Amino acid sequence: MDAHIKKRMKEIGGEAILFDVSLSQYTTFRVGGNAEAMYRAGNLKELKEMMAFLMDEGIPYLILGAGSNLLVRDGGLEGVAIILDGSFASIEDINMAEPSILAGAGLLLNKVVNFCTEKGLAGVEFLAGIPGTLGGGVAMNAGSWGKEIKDVIREVAILTRRAMVERKDSLNLKFKYRGLELNTEEIILNARLNLKFDKPASIKKKVISNIERRKQRFPFDMPSAGSIFKNPEGNYAGRLIDAVGLKGRSIGGAMISPKHANFIVNKGKASASDILALMDLAMVKVIEMFNIQLIPEIKVVGKG
Ligand SMILES: Cc1cc2nc3c(=O)[nH]c(=O)nc-3n(C[C@H](O)[C@H](O)[C@H](O)COP(=O)(O)OP(=O)(O)OC[C@H]3O[C@@H](n4cnc5c(N)ncnc54)[C@H](O)[C@@H]3O)c2cc1C
Repeated sequence: MDAHIKKRMKEIGGEAILFDVSLSQYTTFRVGGNAEAMYRAGNLKELKEMMAFLMDEGIPYLILGAGSNLLVRDGGLEGVAIILDGSFASIEDINMAEPSILAGAGLLLNKVVNFCTEKGLAGVEFLAGIPGTLGGGVAMNAGSWGKEIKDVIREVAILTRRAMVERKDSLNLKFKYRGLELNTEEIILNARLNLKFDKPASIKKKVISNIERRKQRFPFDMPSAGSIFKNPEGNYAGRLIDAVGLKGRSIGGAMISPKHANFIVNKGKASASDILALMDLAMVKVIEMFNIQLIPEIKVVGKG
């Protein structure tokens, strides 16, 4: 990124633009190289202006939620990591007549859950404890306990690469297992969630119980990115990795969690290469023993 581009970006973004930012601070794995630039978009007007500039100049960008499903390679990220902040990280509307909320894509899922609990709006308890943003949750079709975010989505606003805002209802969104089909460079701006009335106390009880179940099942005491691989049809990635004897196996600072074999944890000084090497090892062993191809659930980005 040359000095002229940086100057223009600073003119457009002001203090919301930073250069050469370590992404290890912005991912739950706590690994990864630097982004050439980071932009915190505060509202739609600013985001559109920056997006138009990046498009014109052919500069790539990545929308960064809470970085909880992301592995950034050690060589860092070319272009700009964009964080949706300000008005994108708030509840935009609440409709108590036919209960629903409209929430910004940058809002943390846990904040969505807490807001709904307080208002006596049920339906998103299964998202409690998933450490992502609403935008990341929609992009990944996040889920747990047999439910997926698609089950509660009424409508999503998407910023297209032509800088137009398109509202798509759930029938026109192509959700899949741990994903949503988006065109490249499209940005999820907000989502309206269908909810139902319940007593705050009983919603809270479910939320607490879900968080407790997570603590028992998953290793929350060390940095990770949640499940590394998607579950193959009719099977569990964790069970397969356990069966090939890799539970507890370390490479460098990364380890296949002894608690849950589909989690790789950072013991403190892991590099992205350590994690990728463990992923390769798991894929090779599982294919050798079971002839099953494990597919990563996490998104791997950046240069090696
Ligand atoms: C301890 C732990 C437990 C977890 N448990 C679960 C679980 O139970 N179920 C589950 O499904 N996941 C789980 N995850 C994974 C992760 O939290 C989810 O996938 C979450 O939805 C990712 O959201 P994020 O904001 O962190 O997205 P990021 O990791 O920042 O991004 C993920 C992808 O989404 C894209 N993206 C993010 N925001 C937008 C946007 N606004 N517009 C377009 N694209 C966007 C990014 O570019 C990237 O490709 C867990 C992770 C951890 C660390």
